[in-house]
Amino acid sequence: MVPFRQFLLKIHSRCNLACDYCYMYESADQSWRDRPKVMTPETVRRTAALIAGHARTHRLREVHVVLHGGEPLLVGAARLDAMLHVLADALDGVAALRLTLQTNGLRLAEDPALLPVLARHGVRIGVSLDGTAATHDRHRRRPDGRGSHTGVARALRLLTDGPHHALYAGLLCAIDLTADPVETYEALLEFSPPRLDLLLPHATWHTPPPGLGGRTTPPPAAPGAVPAEPVPYARWLCAVFDRWYGAPRRETGIRLFEEIAVLLLGGTARSESVGLTPVDLVVVETDGTIEQADSLKVTYPGAPATGLDVFQHTFADAARHEAFRARQRGLAGLAPVCAACTRSTVCGGGLYAHRYRPGATPTPFAAPSVYCADLAVLVDHIAGRLRQDVTALGTAAQPLP
Ligand code: SF4
Repeated sequence: MVPFRQFLLKIHSRCNLACDYCYMYESADQSWRDRPKVMTPETVRRTAALIAGHARTHRLREVHVVLHGGEPLLVGAARLDAMLHVLADALDGVAALRLTLQTNGLRLAEDPALLPVLARHGVRIGVSLDGTAATHDRHRRRPDGRGSHTGVARALRLLTDGPHHALYAGLLCAIDLTADPVETYEALLEFSPPRLDLLLPHATWHTPPPGLGGRTTPPPAAPGAVPAEPVPYARWLCAVFDRWYGAPRRETGIRLFEEIAVLLLGGTARSESVGLTPVDLVVVETDGTIEQADSLKVTYPGAPATGLDVFQHTFADAARHEAFRARQRGLAGLAPVCAACTRSTVCGGGLYAHRYRPGATPTPFAAPSVYCADLAVLVDHIAGRLRQDVTALGTAAQPLP
């Protein structure tokens, strides 16, 4: 059994934005409608105790708790403080508690009590920002239709220029093909992010991503060969990679590129997006139900559900559940076309949700990623750049005296 090390807690299930691509409210799974808005103190206490028990059983030195939503900061400063105290008390003397929070940022500027609470508990903050004001406001709008970039920029200035700078973890940007990739990257750099996450839009073969309607499952192209179909996401990402990799000094970290590079050099990835590392993340919803990753919400109604909850089950029950085990089998868990692919140890078949294809057998996830061709081109592109540098290193190396 692979123990969980990351626990994503949905502490608030509603949001103060109405983004057009939101997988929580706009996708196949609509389970949020039946859930309480806020995680109750009892659910937080029970979840914290189960996390501590899981850490004790598996002798985990550290657990990572991600505060998530909806918009997690809608819980307010006092309730957030109380939740964080419960988590800290439960893990005290058991395992180090690493805390992060993913937010749209707006409440940070609107409620001055929030940042001091987050600072007191050492919570590192990731903020969602999609690039330039025009790109961001095209998708990330308030319920009344107004864009949110001005508010997010204000929050980011507060975070980056003030005394709480150390809490700033980075930016999360959903890729918009209609935006210029380098312009997007440079707009993100204006906020000096320690790290960037560039996210492929959550999509499946059934619900293809913007710009890729009607994609069919081809066999993967041979290494270095150009796939027969358009690869707009690869082209977008390769443009950013070249700008980032070619910078004279390090400007920021980009998780996707760094993980692909590490995998190409024989290391292991920490995220689920690439590589074959067994999934170690579990989600607890506001009502205490235990679920799989949110990205599965784009596949079919109820896809993330496990039938388990923190009041009647433990995280060990969840770790034994077939839904999690299916994502811990490495190469054996991939579709035959991926298992035979030369890039599989790096690509890993892509994010599990992106493989969903109704009709695939033996499960609808036994297909390559809907981004297969794009991933192939991106992996080859990064491999090519690394190969050039490694070759140059070898040429420059002097024999030892
Ligand atoms: S999804 Fe990845 S591993 Fe699977 S065939 Fe495509 S490039 Fe290869």
